[in-house]
Amino acid sequence: MAASNTVEDVTVEGDAITAVADTHFGFRTVPINEKQRMVDEVFHSVAKRYDVMNDLMSMGLHRAWKDLLVSKLRPPKNDRPFALLDVAGGTGDVSFRTVEAGSANTRATVADINGGMLAVGRERAVAKGMADKVEFVEANAEELPFPDRSFDAATIAFGIRNVPRMDKALSEMRRVLKPGGRCLVLEFSHVDVPGLDAIYNTYSFKLIPGMGKMVTGDAESYQYLVESIRRFPPPEAFADLMRGAGLKRVSWTPLSGGIVALHSGVRI
Ligand code: SAM
Repeated sequence: MAASNTVEDVTVEGDAITAVADTHFGFRTVPINEKQRMVDEVFHSVAKRYDVMNDLMSMGLHRAWKDLLVSKLRPPKNDRPFALLDVAGGTGDVSFRTVEAGSANTRATVADINGGMLAVGRERAVAKGMADKVEFVEANAEELPFPDRSFDAATIAFGIRNVPRMDKALSEMRRVLKPGGRCLVLEFSHVDVPGLDAIYNTYSFKLIPGMGKMVTGDAESYQYLVESIRRFPPPEAFADLMRGAGLKRVSWTPLSGGIVALHSGVRI
């Protein structure tokens, strides 16, 4: 489980000796400080074809999962201002859906570490006529460049499993939430329907990397993506991470037989 890192090595900088933990990059064990660079390569490589591939890979289901997330967010229909922070927001999908669902005073900030994904998102915002409502900021989820208590809600969709220190990202999301604000995490989970698990495994490991190669020219990145899904902690363990980050009223809902789970927590 990515949440429990083991100390394997040390780095020495000047007089300071720092313990370096290992983590997972898909099925490989890598030093935690290496993971982000490897993740960044994946998303730089697939950025331009990311949205097409998302539709293909999930057979369009990611749209329904994201719509459910937005319906849980409930952006206000009246004039009350509502500010969403969409962490690891990539090409902006969740932000666009939230702005569409809310009133004229709903705004979203997409924070992502990858300039390639953000560039595609900015182009999409212009094409949708939403450039004044959705802002794109290059930022690491582990160190968000926003003041405390500045957002009404924070989301991360299919992003948290890519972040080397998930606990830090969750604490940061809590920090920037206003009291009463909700943190929603949409992530692949663990299939809990007998029969579906075998089909899902075959589909993921045998078909997705090939599809990735056809659409993006890059099978390896999609091999990482399916492996990282398997490495993600089960929902109970992830709920503990959310509680550990100080979030309250933590709960989750399995979707599509557990292929995905929607986790929720509140900053009190
Ligand atoms: N949320 C979008 C969606 O649902 O379509 C994009 C999800 S994509 C699978 C994962 C995103 O996480 C990528 O855009 C990647 O750049 C971003 N990411 C990975 N590590 C990150 C980090 N440490 N901080 C911020 N974003 C990160």
